[in-house]
Amino acid sequence: WKNAPPTLRDVFLLGRGHGERIFLTYDEERASFEAFARATLTFAHQLQADGVRKGDRVAIVMRNLPEWPVVYFGAALAGAIVTPLNAWWTGPELEYGLTDSGAKVAIVDAERLGRIEEHLPNCPDLRRVYVTRFGDEIAHPAIAPLEGVIGKVSGWASLPDRPVPDVDLHPDDDATIFYTSGTTGQPKGALATHRNIVSNIMASGLSGARSYLRRGEAPPQPDPTGPQKATLLSVPFFHATGCFAVLGPSLAGGAKLCLMRKFEAELAMAMIEREKITSAGGVPTIAWQLLEHPERHKYDLSSLETVSYGGAPSAPELVRKIKETWPKSQPGNGWGMTETSATFTHHMAEDYLTRPDSCGPAVPVCDMKIVDVATGRELGVDEVGELWGKGPNVVKGYWNKPEATAQTFVDGWVKTGDLARIDEEGFAFIIDRAKDMLIRGGENIYCIEVENCLYDHPAVMDAAIVGIPHKTLGEEPGAVVTLKPEAEATEAELRAHVAEHLAAFKVPVKVLIQRETLPRNANGKIMKNELKKLFV
Ligand code: ATP
Ligand code: MG
Repeated sequence: WKNAPPTLRDVFLLGRGHGERIFLTYDEERASFEAFARATLTFAHQLQADGVRKGDRVAIVMRNLPEWPVVYFGAALAGAIVTPLNAWWTGPELEYGLTDSGAKVAIVDAERLGRIEEHLPNCPDLRRVYVTRFGDEIAHPAIAPLEGVIGKVSGWASLPDRPVPDVDLHPDDDATIFYTSGTTGQPKGALATHRNIVSNIMASGLSGARSYLRRGEAPPQPDPTGPQKATLLSVPFFHATGCFAVLGPSLAGGAKLCLMRKFEAELAMAMIEREKITSAGGVPTIAWQLLEHPERHKYDLSSLETVSYGGAPSAPELVRKIKETWPKSQPGNGWGMTETSATFTHHMAEDYLTRPDSCGPAVPVCDMKIVDVATGRELGVDEVGELWGKGPNVVKGYWNKPEATAQTFVDGWVKTGDLARIDEEGFAFIIDRAKDMLIRGGENIYCIEVENCLYDHPAVMDAAIVGIPHKTLGEEPGAVVTLKPEAEATEAELRAHVAEHLAAFKVPVKVLIQRETLPRNANGKIMKNELKKLFV
């Protein structure tokens, strides 16, 4: 079983086969698949020379630079457990990630080096730090420039061809630790194996096709003589979605991956036009920002074939709007969590259009069920309870957290903490996070339902419902909304709009209208804890 596929090494080799086609773009910088492969192999050998052995942790602390996939696959080829940390984290949070994972080597960009430098003495396992895009001399003996190993992007193609390191990799070996978004508490490191990641990549192709096949239609066939597929990466590599659901399939499938320093709607539209992007999306708010942008008509976005997203609730209205605005593109929606190595449910095209409030069935070859939280009993069609998932995408558990692992992972099932129902054809409908649901004097209020109702109002751009503590009722719903550019609406009007569609107890007692955007974490999720403070 030595070198038994599939592992990330096979994904890398598959990617290398795309040769001189462009793989990564970042402003004017460009790297072919072969150039990427050479830089990756060079870095893998450097890590081995640094003493990195199978199972050692190698941390990445970087924004979406072209070096990110290089150090990620380089560390994987060296047999390390790759540990990407959230680039938005502060110095103490990064220290937590470095010490929790016990990383031996870290690769950081210059911005993050400034943040972690003073914390390095508190990370005893860390032997070496590589820093990229750092102009000045580095005085610290343990810090070395990454360019000193792999050079600049423009020189990757002329690096020597090195053999793939001879490391005994098995599909069930630990491959990565990705931290959860920290939306509901302290981020937890989800430990994924090579099998978990590779099965996610394989499922992504099949789940797209399934939306057609189950209707007796042929899925769109790629034209081998047509232009190269191109993906706009709008989510961070350091979350499971960016890395597993976007980077992996792009590399394996030969698509160009276009990176942005920071997502900005108008820059993204210019890039879609210039790079002929065929696939865009990420989190729902990114799709909204493109759809609602006042300058949208200036750009030719006709290359878009798919606009898919997930990671946070999306209003049913979104899919209709996409179809109306870009009739030739296919919208897609998926649900997933770090614990399921990204995408766990997905659907697109007609399936999604006819079920605009569903996130699709479980991806091949996973299973899901709904469980009653109080009794642990499995529930039937359309009954609401906790969503549980099982399959090759589900991670082993949490790094260093045996108690949380035992609570969340049971007999191969992951308890997702999300409330959902599954219809008779196996499509999941997310009702709310169990932690977000409000109970107002004994009546359940699902925030997502009220948020979707607010999204239906033509002036509303963004909406979040949070609980306002109440002495006798427990909690009451409060809303924070932002309005579309140049749109107007009053608090009374928005409350009346909800009252028209939903039961009186669901109507927010207060609606705060803000001009600035709602606070979101790096994964595009609204930070409700921040919003709750607005009501005290
Ligand atoms: P933490 O677990 O640290 O609190 P998190 O749950 O936000 O953070 P992730 O693993 O990034 O961390 O996100 C998974 C969660 O995102 C899911 O449990 C679900 O609540 C939400 N989510 C993902 N996709 C969708 C979707 N399509 N619709 C609704 N919610 C979604
Ligand atoms: Mg979670």
